[in-house]
Amino acid sequence: MKLSTKYEINCIKTILIDRYKDAKTELQYKNAYELLVAVILSAQCTDKRVNIITPVLFEAYPDTASLAKANLESLKMLIQSCSFFNNKATNLIKMAKSVESDFSGNIPLDEEKLITLSGVGQKTAHVVMIEYKGANLMAVDTHVFRTSHRLGLSSSKTVQKTELDLIKAFKDNLDILHQGMVLFGRYICTAKNPKCQECFLSEFCKSKKGFKPV
Ligand code: SF4
Repeated sequence: MKLSTKYEINCIKTILIDRYKDAKTELQYKNAYELLVAVILSAQCTDKRVNIITPVLFEAYPDTASLAKANLESLKMLIQSCSFFNNKATNLIKMAKSVESDFSGNIPLDEEKLITLSGVGQKTAHVVMIEYKGANLMAVDTHVFRTSHRLGLSSSKTVQKTELDLIKAFKDNLDILHQGMVLFGRYICTAKNPKCQECFLSEFCKSKKGFKPV
């Protein structure tokens, strides 16, 4: 796979920032607690599905204090349409207990502290901090991985290495670029049948000829 030149990377960066400067996550939330729960639920699950689940969930458990005392089976019932709901329910209760006992009921907006919580890996922590604080961090989900490879921004085989490639290539405005690449991959550079005819980055694409989804 041919990689983009510095000039091409700068063009891609400028266009993505211009296009997506006001982009936000499509997950619906009102505070850091709701954002963290929604991001945990969104692993291997669509934002659309999570947004169907969370209104009832947040009515039943409006904060970590109530979630920490939740009955596991009742919580499973509320999130059962989400993938891996058994594990997610267990993790959500453990997460809420830790936030209550270790952080006085406040979601810690710090990577080192966030990743101590159950169900929160580095990617989840980054997504929360990008969205809530506009942190200069990258998080590589399936959309970011695919689009970064199609655009020649990375040829790395792992999510971790791809993240490092994107940080090195873009350096700043990573929060906007992350949101932009997620939306670009979700609606234009889709996994199957990407909308290449309407793609505003097509001149930089490394996958058009003999296109094969990666
Ligand atoms: S031209 Fe098609 S495959 Fe290439 S980046 Fe655009 S949408 Fe994706």
